[in-house]
Amino acid sequence: MASSNERRIRKLKKGNTWVWLIIFTVLVVASSVLVAFFVSVYGSSFVNEKLNAERDTVQNMADLYEKSLHDGIDPAQVLDVFGRDYIVLDADQHVTASEGTDTRGLPGYEDVVSADEDDEGSIDISAFLYDANLYPDQAAPILRQTGDDVEVAITEVFHDMDAYLVTSDKAMFSEGDIGKVSLLKSLRFLQNRKEQMVKIPFWIGVKMSDGQSEFIGKSYLTFEMTDLILLMIIVASIWLIVLSTYIVMIINIITGIARRRKTLRVFFTDPVTQGNNYICYVYKGSEAIRKYRNRGVRYYVVNLKFVGYRNFCVCHSADAGEKVLGEIYRSIQGMLEKKEICAHATEADFALLLREEETGSVKDRIQAIIEKVSHVTDDHVFVFQAGIATIEPDQKNEVRKTLDLGEVYNIACAARESLDNEDTGIAFFDETLVEDRRWAETVQERQQAALDNEEFVVYYQPKYDPRTDELRGAEALIRWQSPELGFVPPGRMIPIFEKNGFITEIDHYMIKHVARDQKRWLDAGFRCVPVSVNVSRAHFIESDLAEQIRDLVDVEGTPHELVEIELTESAFFDDKKAMIHTIEELKSFGFAVSMDDFGSGYSSLNSLKDMPLDVLKLDAEFFRGENDNGRAEIVVSEAIKLAKYLDMRTVAEGVEVREQVEFLASQDCDMIQGYFYAKPMPGADYEVRMKERYKPKDETE
Ligand code: C2E
Ligand code: CA
Ligand code: CA
Repeated sequence: MASSNERRIRKLKKGNTWVWLIIFTVLVVASSVLVAFFVSVYGSSFVNEKLNAERDTVQNMADLYEKSLHDGIDPAQVLDVFGRDYIVLDADQHVTASEGTDTRGLPGYEDVVSADEDDEGSIDISAFLYDANLYPDQAAPILRQTGDDVEVAITEVFHDMDAYLVTSDKAMFSEGDIGKVSLLKSLRFLQNRKEQMVKIPFWIGVKMSDGQSEFIGKSYLTFEMTDLILLMIIVASIWLIVLSTYIVMIINIITGIARRRKTLRVFFTDPVTQGNNYICYVYKGSEAIRKYRNRGVRYYVVNLKFVGYRNFCVCHSADAGEKVLGEIYRSIQGMLEKKEICAHATEADFALLLREEETGSVKDRIQAIIEKVSHVTDDHVFVFQAGIATIEPDQKNEVRKTLDLGEVYNIACAARESLDNEDTGIAFFDETLVEDRRWAETVQERQQAALDNEEFVVYYQPKYDPRTDELRGAEALIRWQSPELGFVPPGRMIPIFEKNGFITEIDHYMIKHVARDQKRWLDAGFRCVPVSVNVSRAHFIESDLAEQIRDLVDVEGTPHELVEIELTESAFFDDKKAMIHTIEELKSFGFAVSMDDFGSGYSSLNSLKDMPLDVLKLDAEFFRGENDNGRAEIVVSEAIKLAKYLDMRTVAEGVEVREQVEFLASQDCDMIQGYFYAKPMPGADYEVRMKERYKPKDETE
């Protein structure tokens, strides 16, 4: 498979999940840091602010304490308005005055004790107003406030024991406003607010003006419930954002995976069988083969072809054909092991990847598969051909890493194509197949130039009368003397020419050259005998073949009786009527027509009955058999008789030994073409044979 496909699939499989995961992780970390930062910054400044306010209050108390001492007023009475415990230490750390319980436990006087539920509720003191009775010289209320903020506001003002406490945070407060504020005479309302406050008591110590004694006031770190709630809301909303991002991300990832899976499924599904397609086969197969743990497994790549598929579709319908393909696919699938793969590759071809231990058993398995799929429907028996390419174990897993399964499948296809006929069969790939293909390509590349450059040479193989040893004819046989490829025998090129259609050019070439040679020899005074030329089956399909041959011969001015046409037996399977017509035409032009290779392969007795042929060439195979108990002789003898009854001459081909020559002579065989008399030879040598007329004595001994 093209690596682009592989890349596409890999991309599909991987998607960008990891990108999302990275983004998500970064987001989570960033938001956590942000929240932590926010909480710490906001929290510490919040606490600091509170602490400062508390310190200011204690400082106020210390100032008032000193002031009242100075003014000769009982400090306890003055400080009572604060409602706070306090301790005054002299330079020697002796308690000189105190109010409430001394709860200090640690040095530094910052003993933080747990909130006392029974403790009197308090609110943040942000302003303190002097009592006009106590301090007539400071009759106007003065605002003491936290920090320098002039916008300290009040919502509640209460009066207690001749002093005013002002608290608050909402309305603007200024000296003039104080009269408008309703004064509350009790602390009762503090009780109401108690549950809305969180209080942490501790002690704050401040040095008094002598620099020696110390005033220690009890303080509370007081948080308003609303502040805490606000903080919690902010934290919660940040986490909510993170959480929702997380959910969105997860949904995105899951739907992404689902979508990619779906796309991948579509990418891998064959529309005809609804099973695996070729892309899937190559991808999954490559994956399996390349796995390290499979390095010891021998794989078989199989191309299985439903041979008569097109015909089936023509006879029934394309739909019916596709239905059968689906059945075949499911049948094969049912016979595979878990880790094996089957796919509908192309029109009538299936690709299989099998795992097996031995070659013998894979053949059995494929035979079983073929047996099953050929009976996939009740009313038909289908023909299947299989080509197998083996992927050998690769202990180091080196070769397989770069193995292209598509290439191997092609090789399996080539192996299958090497099965010539259309019967059920199994072919294993072997190296010669690749060589054959390469050779066929080389031949095809050079054939036209070879023809133009007259690299093809006509060899002549004489035919002798076994009764008299007299030269009676010859067969023209092609040879290729290629400057690049060397000497090429016909067996190495004729089948290729027959496949690629170039054979008709060859036939023309041979007829033209034989006619030309014959004419030249005739003019030179040789006693010419008929020379037969092979005409291929492919050529015989042309309806004007007889005219073509006549024209070719006439161009050279050669008498027609000096050229004979040989037809191979297989040619007789084509359109019989057309064939008879061509033969009759050739005969009417004065050309003799012979049936080549009679007795090889298919029975051609029927053809003999219909075709008005002049010569019967008995196949060389008749003279190859050993230990046949003389049966071949009976057949040959009867064939010669049959030919004579039909008024045909006989030529025995491939005769190499004297006994056969003598036997054929005794049976009145007209001619022998074989190594016993002569091998195919160049024209110059053949000229000598023509001159001698009889077989040279030295060769018969
Ligand atoms: P064929 O037409 O049956 O030619 C006879 C083949 O048998 C020749 O092989 C010849 O050399 C060989 N032969 C003859 N006597 C003996 C013998 O006693 N022993 C052995 N072992 N072999 C013998 P060649 O020349 O290699 O040709 C092979 C085939 O190639 C021919 O078989 C023919 O089918 C094809 N061919 C050759 N030349 C042409 C041609 O010009 N045109 C076409 N269409 N086919 C040709
Ligand atoms: Ca022949
Ligand atoms: Ca022959």
